[in-house]
Amino acid sequence: MKIAIDGPAGAGKSTVARRLARELNFTYIDTGAMYRALTLKALQQGIDLYDSNLLQQLAEATDIHFQNHSGDQRIISDGVDVTDLIRAPQVGEAVSTVSSHPAVRAVMVKLQQAMAGKCSVVMDGRDIGEYVLPDADYKFFLTAGLEERAQRRVREMELLGYKSDPSAVREEMIKRDQIDSQRPVGALRVLPDHIVIDTSNMTEDEVLHAIMMKIQGA
Ligand code: C5P
Repeated sequence: MKIAIDGPAGAGKSTVARRLARELNFTYIDTGAMYRALTLKALQQGIDLYDSNLLQQLAEATDIHFQNHSGDQRIISDGVDVTDLIRAPQVGEAVSTVSSHPAVRAVMVKLQQAMAGKCSVVMDGRDIGEYVLPDADYKFFLTAGLEERAQRRVREMELLGYKSDPSAVREEMIKRDQIDSQRPVGALRVLPDHIVIDTSNMTEDEVLHAIMMKIQGA
């Protein structure tokens, strides 16, 4: 079974997707983490973030995969655990530029489809329902108001030990959503077959419950 969860930053996708996967005993694939890992490598190598050819080559040459460490999922890039590094603000600022290149997306989508071909998955991202798993059994689109999403991101960054200025986080989020929604390929958008859930006034438990009801009730 394939479950796609799309939506903007801070809508609560990754927490719920992770919990849903655990509940169903499926594999969780965080595609945002994959784009972040590639962005981190591009930044470390000083690559021009607008050079599509170079970024495509970098994507093709990078080994990105997930590893489970006693229930905790880690992302490994070229053998190095970058799970914490990819959450750095510099990566957040650059990731939508890197992921806006169709050539980069083509490499990543292929990799994500290969991962999903091996087992039942819950996959979250922006283009999962449209491009990565168009034949997913269930497609959810999680969203929430901008203020709520920004507050969640601030809390998340603080938990990771990054000092964050709420207004800067809010601005970065607006900019990222704009780039993510306007790119020519893999844009963030609601599809006719997405089940839309506005999580603004819902707890994580409630969102998980709403999704489980849809899956079990079908
Ligand atoms: O999910 P997260 O907020 O960590 O994603 C980081 C960025 O990666 C997004 O803002 C977007 O630019 C990119 N992304 C993407 N397609 C996906 C998942 C993430 O372009 N499927």
